[in-house]
Amino acid sequence: SLRTYQAAHYGIHPNQLSEGALATIHSLVSAGFQAFVVGGGVRDLLLGLHPKDFDIATNATPEQIKRIFGRHCQIIGRRFQLAHVYHGRHLLEVATFRAPHQEQSSHSQTSAHGMIVRDNVWGTIEQDASRRDFSANALYYQPQTGLIWDFANGMSDIEQKTLRMIGDAPTRYREDPVRMLRAARFAAKLGFSIDDASLAPIPSLAYLLKAISPHRLYDESHKLFCCGHLQQLLPLLQNLGLLQHLFPFIDEGWVHSTLIQIAAKNTDDRLQQGKSVNPAFFYAILLWQWQQQLTQLELAKGEDLFPALQNAGIKVLNLQAQHTAIPRFVGQTIREIWDLQPRLAQPKARIVPKLISQPRFRAGFDFLWLREQAGDDSTLGMGSWWEHYQQVSVDEQEHLLKLLD
Ligand code: ATP
Ligand code: MG
Repeated sequence: SLRTYQAAHYGIHPNQLSEGALATIHSLVSAGFQAFVVGGGVRDLLLGLHPKDFDIATNATPEQIKRIFGRHCQIIGRRFQLAHVYHGRHLLEVATFRAPHQEQSSHSQTSAHGMIVRDNVWGTIEQDASRRDFSANALYYQPQTGLIWDFANGMSDIEQKTLRMIGDAPTRYREDPVRMLRAARFAAKLGFSIDDASLAPIPSLAYLLKAISPHRLYDESHKLFCCGHLQQLLPLLQNLGLLQHLFPFIDEGWVHSTLIQIAAKNTDDRLQQGKSVNPAFFYAILLWQWQQQLTQLELAKGEDLFPALQNAGIKVLNLQAQHTAIPRFVGQTIREIWDLQPRLAQPKARIVPKLISQPRFRAGFDFLWLREQAGDDSTLGMGSWWEHYQQVSVDEQEHLLKLLD
């Protein structure tokens, strides 16, 4: 049942929305439709966080949206049809209200495992709310009326910092197993606890992630690494039995290793400071132990170090790509970071300038530095050496190079 709240009582005002979101809502309403900000934008404003973006929900169909925005609008997606509206250079996702999934319909389809493969049945706002994932993600804010519409008890769940799946949790996880990853991510990111009924089914349903395409799982892995609370998220994913399905080849204890812990903290700190993070970097960290193990196997077969490293790197990435489809350029960066490790640990003086001017030097050095911080003595103390080298004068650099050989 619908409850409405005065957004202003919760410190939410239209001027907190982006210009593009406001303009898009105004255009839709002027054309006679309903339009709201929904999902993460409303949730984050209520929590005093800075929303990434503002998604819009409307009763206009994609064709009707297209008619309003013309060449500023593009209809995208198959599994989940959606309008992209451009406001200047700013992109807004405008989604038509959807009805919950129904078995016998030509517009929605379920696989043999109860998974939704097509989901394009339009519905009312109330139906739209019921098919969203968590109550905290199902609030609708209308800036012109100043009201928040709540069909799923989302306001009270946000107040109690509880993440609650809407409807019957096991059914909703079966419909879309990625919701289990989302539960862990939002709990870590928002500092919420997952309500018992939403939490309990996860370990026994985690295996359903096998049915998700590696492309979608790669995208999710990217969101996991960049949620800003990786330190809390990784152990949670492991305890829920989810991590094993994304990264089946890494050891149980690896997540608790010093290297992973400080790399996760480093990633979170960077995001906190508004810096960017390269998903390749955390991938390189997470797969490092496994890459080292395979390198040892190659060496035992009599390979030289560099071919051994490269063969191991290729194998690791090929096997991992069957679970999360790492894009080619990301895989390339991961391998460059790995290949730089022995080079940075035992550089010849004459190639030092060449190493420094490599595009991947920074990432390779950061990686070496974290390994050294984590107590890995195979860096031979060179993490500190490179750190120092970069800070001193040209004369002193020459002196350092003489000492090197
Ligand atoms: P973020 O801050 O990560 O963007 P978000 O809540 O905005 O968080 P999105 O992935 O951008 O998450 O999705 C927008 C909204 O769409 C969600 O808030 C939720 O209401 C709905 N949604 C997204 N993915 C799903 C899903 N797999 N199942 C059900 N509802 C979903
Ligand atoms: Mg979002």
